[in-house]
Amino acid sequence: MAGPAAPSGPAGSAVPLTGDHHVHSTFSDDGTSSPAENLAAAVAAGLDTVRFVDHVRIGTTYVPDFLAAVAALPRTEGLTVLTGVEAKILDAAGTVDAPPEVLASLGAPGGPDRVLLADHQLPGPDGPLSPRAVLEGGLAPADVVELLVTATVRAMHRVGRAQVAHPFSLLPKVHLSEDDVPDDLLDALAQAAVATGTPVEVNEKWRCPGPRVVARLRAAGVGLVASTDAHAAAAVGRYAWLRTAGASTAPGTPGSAAPTTDAP
Ligand SMILES: [Zn+2]
Ligand SMILES: [Zn+2]
Repeated sequence: MAGPAAPSGPAGSAVPLTGDHHVHSTFSDDGTSSPAENLAAAVAAGLDTVRFVDHVRIGTTYVPDFLAAVAALPRTEGLTVLTGVEAKILDAAGTVDAPPEVLASLGAPGGPDRVLLADHQLPGPDGPLSPRAVLEGGLAPADVVELLVTATVRAMHRVGRAQVAHPFSLLPKVHLSEDDVPDDLLDALAQAAVATGTPVEVNEKWRCPGPRVVARLRAAGVGLVASTDAHAAAAVGRYAWLRTAGASTAPGTPGSAAPTTDAP
């Protein structure tokens, strides 16, 4: 699903903007639109691909209901509807905060298509560290970055069918930036994404990753996908940062409109 598609918009040379690969519904605590409302928004935005995804933790039980709701949506000519769950990476070993039965059913009939790997917290050696804990813990920037990338690489291999959600969105929260990520770690991330066929998002909500990371991943053959991380139908398929600057020119630092919190 991460194959090449027709470019559109200034950032389209790197990332096709005719897809939205990260859309939340009311199955997420913080989503405000139903899957049907999101579908209608995807059609109205002229998308050819949309991925419905909601937040899970290890004890989440709604996934069958969510998948049934998406499966019950009317088919729309020219629009591919994909599914997923979004879960944080828990630790440096790449353990993912999703129900085991969901992870076991990825890509199977009755299972979600992919797990979106999220850096909502830093995957530490012994478990997740909140941004506050990272700041108060005095971890060296190089260690923070290495933990994050290494855990993401391991999670990609463990999960098998992943998508990297808003890569490096954690860094501004711990007063770092993508400039703190050395090329060799970007190459390790790219190598794992290519080896596992894992798409990597360029995320409108979090305005990441920026042009340096996008260019390096793209040169390595990584399948880049556009996502809004919409939590309301009005945001589905609507790219402002990504279309006007985003992956093509602007640094991947959050602007004043960028959110400062995210779900678990
Ligand atoms: Zn997220
Ligand atoms: Zn999300």
